[in-house]
Parts: sequence; structure tokens; C-alpha cells
Amino acid sequence: MNLEQQLQAITQKNYGKDVRGCDDKELYYSILNLSKELIGQKPVISGDKKVYYISAEFLIGKLLSNNLINLGVYDELDELLKANGKSLSKIEEIEPEPSLGNGGLGRLAACFLDSIATLGLPGDGIGLNYHFGLFKQVFKDKLQCAEKNDWIEAQSWLNKTDVSFKVKFGDRTVTSRLFDIDVIGYEQGVNKLHLFDIETIDESLVKKGIDFDKEEIEKNLTLFLYPDDSDEAGNLLRIYQQYFMVSNGAQLILQEMKANGHDLHRLYDHAAIQINDTHPTMVIPELIRILTEEEGFSMDEAIDVVSRTCAYTNHTILAEALEKWPLKYLEKVVPALVPIIKELDKRVAKKYKDKTVQIIDKDDRVHMAHIDIHYGYSVNGVAAIHTEILKDSELNNFYKIYPEKFNNKTNGITFRRWLLSCNRELAAFLSKTIGDGFKKDAAQLEKLLEHKDDQAVLDTIAAIKKNKKQELVDYVKEAEGVELNPNSIFDIQVKRLHEYKRQQMNALYIIHKYLEIKAGKKPTTPLTFIFGAKAAPAYVIAQDIIHLLLVMQEIINKDPEVSPYMHLLMVENYNVSYAEKLIPACDISEQISLASKEASGTGNMKFMLNGAVTLGTSDGANVEIHELVGDDNIYIFGEKSEQIIEHYEKADYVSKDYYKKSKVIKEAVDFIVSKEALKVGHKENLERLYKELLEKDWFMTLLDLEDYIATKDKMFKDYEDSQKWKKMMLVNIAKAGFFSSDRTIEEYNRDIWKLR
Ligand SMILES: *Cc1c(COP(=O)(O)O)cnc(C)c1O
Repeated sequence: MNLEQQLQAITQKNYGKDVRGCDDKELYYSILNLSKELIGQKPVISGDKKVYYISAEFLIGKLLSNNLINLGVYDELDELLKANGKSLSKIEEIEPEPSLGNGGLGRLAACFLDSIATLGLPGDGIGLNYHFGLFKQVFKDKLQCAEKNDWIEAQSWLNKTDVSFKVKFGDRTVTSRLFDIDVIGYEQGVNKLHLFDIETIDESLVKKGIDFDKEEIEKNLTLFLYPDDSDEAGNLLRIYQQYFMVSNGAQLILQEMKANGHDLHRLYDHAAIQINDTHPTMVIPELIRILTEEEGFSMDEAIDVVSRTCAYTNHTILAEALEKWPLKYLEKVVPALVPIIKELDKRVAKKYKDKTVQIIDKDDRVHMAHIDIHYGYSVNGVAAIHTEILKDSELNNFYKIYPEKFNNKTNGITFRRWLLSCNRELAAFLSKTIGDGFKKDAAQLEKLLEHKDDQAVLDTIAAIKKNKKQELVDYVKEAEGVELNPNSIFDIQVKRLHEYKRQQMNALYIIHKYLEIKAGKKPTTPLTFIFGAKAAPAYVIAQDIIHLLLVMQEIINKDPEVSPYMHLLMVENYNVSYAEKLIPACDISEQISLASKEASGTGNMKFMLNGAVTLGTSDGANVEIHELVGDDNIYIFGEKSEQIIEHYEKADYVSKDYYKKSKVIKEAVDFIVSKEALKVGHKENLERLYKELLEKDWFMTLLDLEDYIATKDKMFKDYEDSQKWKKMMLVNIAKAGFFSSDRTIEEYNRDIWKLR
């Protein structure tokens, strides 16, 4: 049977209709069935050693289009649907998006699974099946409200398995159920994403928004990702989730090892366990517990074997994001691990007197990262500058003990999703211009440089950008009911909302621009500023920043003097699907975190690959983008990380000094509590944010604001030289190959996992 016959057979069987007679929803489920049949014919990737990537987040996005591309049937299916009067891209819209992650860290895990499979390496993900994911963001009264994201349908990519384990907590034992999602490599075999769940979950526990009873563990354990941790019950629930994830993971790994006849004493020869940030850290003591209690290992043996199997990825230097669990919480939730953690701590204390490297501190808090560093064989940062900061300052005391463990693995993104799928036009044009090789070997994108003076190539790249902007305009009109100007410059900042990412600095620029236009200074080309960001529900200032953006949105868009020249849009519920629409349409990629704070960023890579030019600080992977494209193809501003780190050490940054010194800064900041703003917004939110900026400003917004304004204005000016701009686009695309997650995974494998 050919593909069309297979699909016709499925629609007949499921709905008693041919393809032409089905609606988009029926076709979505039919293509889902078809994909599963095709996946079933692919080999399971196997080998003598396997990597297990354990992560609390897998921000996988919709899977249909990517799976069809990786199965190699996208174009054929697209054609046959067209011939039947259907549109594959419309059908793709039907799929609900799981929100099994917050942002970059979870998206990275998803990109990595794609690359591991694409490289033909045996490697599975291990995580949790959150029924309502993170949350769905809606704006009401210019404030963020959180609603549940109900993404699991009767038919989905989840496959229920017969795998089930018992997980013993201090006060109860729960039984797990494993669901698998197939991970198809690009023209390759299949790995798995293992998502553990419990069958006693009670979705009706969620009453209003995302509130639920946090005590009823059997009913709530996998309802949400990272339930609000602003109270004790929320913190305990996180520990329940983490232990549930790692205990299931450890049991699964050991079961697979035994099934393959491997000697657990040589576990490290057959398994590498990559710990994605500290959330899965308890897999270390859990494996030690199982090996000593159930497999007859001595403590020394168990520690040795586990330490040679587990590797740790650090994702942040923000102190508040490095987990430290109070020992008394662990005693309540996972008492079986406490003696092991104490033993691990005792061994460290015996060897090293330095207080800063102990596992349990004087306040009886357990530093999860310290367990990973002492009892794992590799510690990696996620961009060159980030790893240097870990070695030189944040983890310097550990680096002095274990210099051989530290290594850098600069993040990457899968080009299947972030080019082939989200920008089919650009991918097709690249194939035509430089051949198909870049699809499997991203470094070949550099061939595009040979066409740097080829007018037809430059014009086509610009024309594709124009088309993608129009597509976004059409989508936004339907989704948000807002009319954007496709002839304006699209300046986009989309990422989690956090003060260190400095959306508030961008907001101050926008206020400044608004005031300039009011004073008669109009931009040559109109400007469109787009934001997308979810804020953690308990993060008050982040909510206030969203509020300010929504207030400015209303003020600007309702002002007939200003709206022809600038537009502001904060999109609702920014997620992977939205990213796939926004990124190909972007001219200016905003990557403006306070230097030293963004470990890597991966949004920056996606934008570059799609021909946007970066406006950024010397932070995270921006530094490497800068090195690759050179000074002429990126706009870098702001103080460098060494200076920032010094400001923190000396505590010499005083935001009010900057406010007093600069008229431009003062005017922009004062506008937050101006009559105009207060008329539209809420006094409480705006005043709190104003005060925060003047009295604290922990992430130094005002420090870089003037330089930011000057650099951004220079960028808008340069945009007027369309020839220059097109060349910058081309160079950015051509140099993006380094950021393929295939490269990243090859490095993980070469240096850490050593599979095959
Ligand atoms: C890539 C991605 C991120 C990460 O963006 P950064 O700018 O690197 O923080 C966050 N959310 C979504 C939906 C993404 O696709």
C-alpha cells in the first residue's frame, strides 16, 4: 500500500469516510494513527551502552509535523492532502500542545532527544507525565491568570505500557504507570521518552485556575509541573515529584540492564545517566539505596558504580535556582534516602574541610548540586562563558578539587524543528542554493557565504522573511484579533519572564520611544515590538512587568499620534507552537539578559538560524554567536560579565544614581507611575515595579539602559540600508550551523557518554 492508500484505509476504518470527506480533526487523528503505524516499522535504536536523560521538563511541543519530517513522509503527505482539498498546516493546528516544561531547559531536553535519535545513539528520556503541564496563560484586566492546560486526549502520542513500579515515600507507597512517547530520529530509528504517571490521579481536584489540594499526593502527584513552591506544601510536593521521577527511573534502568544480561557491578559500561539540572539529583542516592538494599552491594561499591554512571549538567548561576532542600522535608518525604545522603555528606566532610563544598550545611539544608558534583563523573556548563564562570567563581571551590570533571557543552537546537519544520520556505531555498547536505550536517550552512554577494540570493532571503511576517500577521489577526503592520520592523523578545532577562529594560525603551514620537521624533520605518512570556505564579515583580507591558500596549495602540509608527503586542500563552510562528518572522532578536546571568539561551540560536539579527549583551551563547558572525553582523551592548560580577562583589550598583544622572532614564522610569499609565493600569502593580527599579533593581536594568537605547536606535537606522541588512541576515543563517544540537550531542557522546 502506498501512503495515500494507508491513510484512506485508516479514515475508512475510523470514520467510514474517505480522506476528502473527513474534517481536519478526523484527519489529525487518522494521521496520528498512520504515524504510529510507520513508527512501528522503524527499528528500535540499540547498542551495548545507552544514555538515560533524566529531566523534570521535556518541552516537546506539538509532534505531528516533526514526526512526519523525521519519518520522511511530510512532503508526500502534504501533496496528497492538497490533492484531496486539505491542508496539512491547518490539520497541525488541531494537535494540543503539551506544556511539560517552563522554557529553555525543557526545550533543550526535547532537542537533545531528537538529536540523540537522529545520530542513531541509543538514548531515552525519563520524566513525568504532567496532566495539566505548566499552565495556560490568559490575560484578564491586564494581568496574567493561570489556567490548566488540559492536553491529554483519548488518542495522543502517549502509549500506555505495562511497566509499573512501587515507589515508597515516608507516609505512603504509590504505584506508577509508564507512558511512552516515541522519539523518531531524522531518517533513523526510534528511541523513547518515558513519562511516569500514577493511575489514581484525580483531575477534578483542580477547582479554580490552577489551585488544588497539595496534600492529597495519590491524587495530585502528576497534575502540574512545578506547582507553586511559595509554601511548605508546594515544596513538599516538588520533592514527592522528584523522588517519584528518579525512583521510577532508577528501577527502569536497572530492570533494563538486567534484562540485557549486564552485570550491575559494571553499570557504567552500559549506562550513562545525564542529570538535567538538579531536579533529578536524588537518582544518585536512590540508585545507591537500591544497589545496597536489594542487590547486595557494599556501600563503597555502590557509591563507586553510581559515581561512574551519573553526569550532571548545570543550567544556572542564579543562587535562588540552585536547590537546597531542608533535611526535615527529606525526612518526611523520602526517609529511606536520608541515611544515604548523610553518609555521602560524611565522606565529603572527612575529605574536605572547606565549608562551601559540604552537602549538608550548618542550617541542615541539603545542597543538591553538591551531591551531583561529588558523586557524578562529569559537570558541564551549557555555553563557553557559563562554564568559565562556573570554574572561576560559582563553583570554583569544586573546580579546585575536581578540575577533570568540568567541561563545556554549548547548547544547541534541532534544525528539524527550528528550520525544516518552522521555515519550510527557507529550508527549501537553502536546499536549492547549497544542496541538501546541511540537513544532516549543519556545518554545511556555511556554503551560503559563497553567495554573500549574489543579489538574487539576498533578495530571496529577504522575500522569505517578508512572507513569514505576513503569515504571522495573518495568524495574530486570527488568534489575538490584532492587526500588525507587515511593513514594520519586527523586534521580538520571547522567553520566560524573569528580571535577569530584562523584559523591563525593553519596556523602558518602548516608553522612551513612545515619548519621542509624542514629541514629534518619528521612526523612518514603523516599529512592531512583540513579547511573549509566562511568569511563575508566585513571582510578584514578574507579574508587574507583564502588567506594565499590557498597559503600554493599550496606551500605544490607542494613541492615534503614535500607533502609525509603533505597535506593541504581548502574545497570550507563549509556547513552542507560537515560537515556531514568531521566530521565522523576526527581524531583531532581543537577547538582553544581564551579562553573566543567562547560562546559554537557545532562543538566540533559533532566531539567528531564521535570519534575525541579534541585539544582545555579552552573555551566554550570545558570546559565541558574536565570535562566529563577527562585529559587523550582531549588535552587542552593555557591561561585560567581569564588570557585573565585580558590581555584585563590591555591592556598588545603585540604580538611583543612574536615574538621577540621566534625563532619558528618569523620564522613562517616571512614566510607569505617570497619570497616563495609572489611568490605564493598576496603582499597586505599577508603583511596586517603580519602587523596585529605583530601590533594588537587582538585575541592573538601569546600568545598561542608555547603551541599549543607543544600540537599538543604531540598529533601526541600519535597517534602512536594506542591502546591508540582507547581508547580515545571510551571514547569521550561514554561521548558525554550530548551534545544531547534533553537534552538541556529538560532544556529549565524545566526552561524557562514550556510547558505541
Ligand atoms: C527556545 C524556547 C525557550 C528558550 O528561550 P530563551 O530565549 O533561550 O530563554 C523558551 N520557551 C520556548 C517555547 C522556546 O521554544
